[in-house]
Amino acid sequence: MTDQLQYAAERRTVGDLGRKMLDQGLTKGTGGNVSQRCGDGETVAISPSGVPYEDVTPERVPLVTLDGEQVDGDLEPSSETPMHAMVYRQREAVGGVVHTHSPYASTFASLGEPIPASHYLIAFAGDQVPVAGYEEPGSEALGELAAETMGTDYDACLLQNHGTLAVGDTAEDAFEVSMMVEYCARIHYQAISVGDPIVLPDEEVDRLRSMFESYGQQ
Ligand code: 13P
Ligand code: ZN
Repeated sequence: MTDQLQYAAERRTVGDLGRKMLDQGLTKGTGGNVSQRCGDGETVAISPSGVPYEDVTPERVPLVTLDGEQVDGDLEPSSETPMHAMVYRQREAVGGVVHTHSPYASTFASLGEPIPASHYLIAFAGDQVPVAGYEEPGSEALGELAAETMGTDYDACLLQNHGTLAVGDTAEDAFEVSMMVEYCARIHYQAISVGDPIVLPDEEVDRLRSMFESYGQQ
């Protein structure tokens, strides 16, 4: 019998999304990280720390527990494991977490300003994208602050002077939210550069959020 890699599909997804994050311009170098909750709900496949995404094969993706303890893989898990683990512990329904350094969203993060609802796609994240204050990258404190900022109302937040955090039912969903956060940040940046954007009321964004639940092919 051949030894099968545990949670091979989830580990493959982590590597694939890391490469996609780079391709889509959501990060530079080895910045950012991706994780996917695995079958038993208590294990998480997370990108290895500081490894070029092109080298992240499924067997090189570490497995950690919800307490952030490594249970498989030879490489060190992401330095942001405490933040990912915190979010999974806080929100049982979250199956994937993506952290990016995407440039337009990071611009607002550096200003300490939330992204308001100047484009309807903000509804992927909530009625805005709130900002978690600055904490040292990789710290438990950053994880706590980010989880507290998202609460249960938001699927993304900005990390002051750093980047973005997004969650979803799966890592692919969290990736989609990260893309929308970056898109909305770019539109808002452009809009404030030339004028005074109209911000959608909270009720409309709430309506859009429930509409998105049944959007597309069910
Ligand atoms: P890792 O390579 O350890 O995942 O760290 C990248 C990063 O974005 C830290 O915030
Ligand atoms: Zn980072």
